Amino acid sequence: MRPTILNPLFAGISGLKGIGPRLEKVIAPLLRAQDDKRQAPRVIDLLFHLPVGAIDRRLKCTIQDLPSSGIVTVEITVGRHRPPPRANRRIPYRIECFDPTGTIALVYFHSFADHLQRLLPEGETRFVSGHVEWYQGSPQIVHPDHVVTADEFNRMPRLEPVYPLTQGLSLKVLGKAIRAAGVRVPELPEWIDAPLLSQRQWPGFSAALQSVHQPNDIPDTIETSPARQRLAYDELLANQLALLLVRHHMKRSKGRSIEGSGHLRRKIIERLPFRLTASQKAAVETIIKEMSAPERMLRLLQGDVGSGKTVVALLALATAVEAGAQGSFMVPTEILARQHFATFSRLTDGSTRIEILTGREKGKQRDEVLRRIALGEANIVIGTHALFQEAVEFKGLALAVIDEQHRFGVHQRLALQGKADAAIDVLVMTATPIPRTLSLTIYGDMDVSRLTEKPFGRQKVDTRTMPQDRLEELLQGLSRALASGQKAYWVCPLIEESESLDKAAAEARLQYLSKRFPGRTGLMHGRMKGEEKDEIMRRFQAGEISLLISTTVVEVGVDVPDASIMIVENAERFGLAQLHQLRGRVGRGEVKSSCILLYATPLTQAARARLEIMRETDDGFIIAEEDLRLRGAGEVLGTRQSGLPQFRLADLSVHGDLLATARDDALSVLQNDPALRSPRGEALRTMLYLFERDEAVRLLAAG
Ligand code: ADP
Ligand code: MG
Repeated sequence: MRPTILNPLFAGISGLKGIGPRLEKVIAPLLRAQDDKRQAPRVIDLLFHLPVGAIDRRLKCTIQDLPSSGIVTVEITVGRHRPPPRANRRIPYRIECFDPTGTIALVYFHSFADHLQRLLPEGETRFVSGHVEWYQGSPQIVHPDHVVTADEFNRMPRLEPVYPLTQGLSLKVLGKAIRAAGVRVPELPEWIDAPLLSQRQWPGFSAALQSVHQPNDIPDTIETSPARQRLAYDELLANQLALLLVRHHMKRSKGRSIEGSGHLRRKIIERLPFRLTASQKAAVETIIKEMSAPERMLRLLQGDVGSGKTVVALLALATAVEAGAQGSFMVPTEILARQHFATFSRLTDGSTRIEILTGREKGKQRDEVLRRIALGEANIVIGTHALFQEAVEFKGLALAVIDEQHRFGVHQRLALQGKADAAIDVLVMTATPIPRTLSLTIYGDMDVSRLTEKPFGRQKVDTRTMPQDRLEELLQGLSRALASGQKAYWVCPLIEESESLDKAAAEARLQYLSKRFPGRTGLMHGRMKGEEKDEIMRRFQAGEISLLISTTVVEVGVDVPDASIMIVENAERFGLAQLHQLRGRVGRGEVKSSCILLYATPLTQAARARLEIMRETDDGFIIAEEDLRLRGAGEVLGTRQSGLPQFRLADLSVHGDLLATARDDALSVLQNDPALRSPRGEALRTMLYLFERDEAVRLLAAG
C-alpha cells in the first residue's frame, strides 16, 4: 500500500484552491500520462508538469528609466481612459498612466470598457507588468500580462515560469494551479544517498519542486539546475531500482533446468531454406545453455528488422518441447500470431502440437484450446496478450517468449513477468534499435543477445523520397512493377491517432488505386475483423492481389518475403523508427527492393532531416541515435508505439549522464539492502510509490 504521507499528492486536483470542474477538464489532457488515459489528473501530475522557461519580471523601474523594449514592471497611477470612438474597432482603447517621472499608455484592442474600468479605476495605484515598447516617442504596454494591486503584487511571481499550455488555458491560471499544488507537497524522507546529495549540492525533493515552480533566479530555471537534476535523478533512480528489484526477484526464485535432446532442433534446422547466420547460432547457443542452467533466464534478443529473430525463438521453444515442457510465444497483433503459427507449423512438420490463442478464439473453440493447453496436449502456444490476460493454465510452461516487446511497454512486461510466477525462463525480442542510454531504462533488468548481421543475400533497399505531387510518375513506375509480378505495400499515414480517420484515408486511397489497378488491390486497417485481415494477408501472400493498401498495421513484424516495394504516403509525419520498421517489410527476399517515401511540401527542417537519414542509412542503430539527437529522448521512436518509459522529470538528452549514476546506485542498494529495510531503504520505498512503481514494491513483500 502506498504510504499515507503521499496521499495529498495523489488526490485529485479539483480540491485545489481555484480549480473547479471546468478547469479540471481543460487541464486534464495536458497532464494525462500516456498509458492511463482515463485517469483524472492528480496533484502530482500538476507538480510534475515542468516549466520550459521563465519570464523575468524583476526589472522594476520608473517610467523615466524604462528600457527601449523588453519585459518590465512599473508602479503607476491610473489616469484618463480614452475609449475608441464608437464603431471604430480598429482604434485601441488607451489608458494614460503616470508616475512622478513620466507617463505611459496601456493599450487594449477589442476589449470591453467595463472590464477595463474595473481593472484600472482612475486615480488608483497599480503594478503593471508586460512588454514595453515606444510609440511616437512615448512608452506604452500593449495588453499587459499582469495588472495587480500592491497586495497582489507581493504574491506575483517575479520570475514567472512558462509551462506548456493547452487550448483554453492561460499561463496565469495554470501557474496559480501549480502554485496551489505546491502547498500540498509534504516533507518526505530523503532517499538519495547523503554523499551524493552533498557532492552535487542538490536540494531535497520538496525544495526542488518549489525551486522549479517558483524560481528565485535565472539559474533556477534551466534544465541543468541542481533542482531539475535532482528531480530527474529521482525519476531515473525509481526506474532503475524497479527494474533491478524485478530482476533480483526473478533470479532468486529458483529456475528449472530445461535440457533438450536436440532432435527437434536439428529437424527444424534441416528444413530451413537457409543457413543460420553466425549471430543467430550464437544467440541460440547462449539461450539453450541458459535454459539448461538451474537459474531463471531473463534475456533480451535484440536484432534489427529482418535479422531473423523468429527462428531463434522457434529453436528455443523447440528445446522446451524436447524436454517435455511447454513454450509460449506472445506477439502484439493477431496478424503476427497467424503468421508465426504458419511458419512454426511448416518448420516443425507435424512433430509439434501448436495452438493459437487470440481475442478471436471464442466460446467452445476457446474452451477446447484452453483444455488442450491445460492437459499438456499443446506443446507451443502462440497468442496475443490474451495469453496472459486471463488465467491460461499451462501444464508445464518452461519458456515464455515475448515478440516485439516494444509494442507492450515496460510496465506491461514487468507485470507479465510478475504473473508468470513459476520458474519460467523469459526471452524478450525486439527490433527497436535503441541507443544505449535508453536501453538501460527499458531493459536494465535483462541480459542481452544481439543479432548483428543481416541474413545472407540481402540487398540494400533502394530508398527514394518524392514530393506527393509527383504521384502520377510514381504510379507509372508502380504499374510497370506490378505488371512484372512484383508486390507492393502502400501505407497511408496515421491521422491524429484516430483509427476511424485512418480507415477513411486508407479507403479513399484504395478507391483511387483500385481504379488504376483493377483486381490487384486489397485494403487492410486496424478496424477490420481478424478474419478479414487474415484473408487479405493470405491473398497478398499468395499473389492473388499485389498491391496492399493499409494503415500502419503492417508496421510490425509482417513477413512476406517476396514483397519488394514499400510506398509510404506523407512520410514526413512518421517518426524515424516507424519508417525504419515499415521499410523493413521489404528487402527480405532475393529481389531487389525499393522504398518510396512520399512527402507533402513544404517540409519542415526536422522532417527533411529525417527523410535524409532514411535515404542515407539502413542501419537501425544509426537511425536510433539520430532520432535521439533530432528529437530528444522523450519523443524517440514515436512515443505511442515505442513502449519507452515516459519520463516526466528526466530528459535523457539533457540528464542522460545521471542514468549511469542511478544505475550504480540502484545496484549498490540491491547489494546492501535488497529488502529495503534500512532507513534509506524505507525512504526508497516511498520514492518507488511516488513514481508509481508499485509492482516493484509488491515483489519485495512477496520475496
Ligand atoms: P525479424 O528479426 O524482423 O523478426 P524474421 O524472423 O521475420 O525477422 O526474419 C525475416 C526473414 O528472413 C524471414 O523471411 C526469415 O525466414 C528470413 N531469415 C531468417 N534467418 C535467415 C537466414 N539466416 N538466412 C536467410 N534468411 C533468413
Ligand atoms: Mg519479427
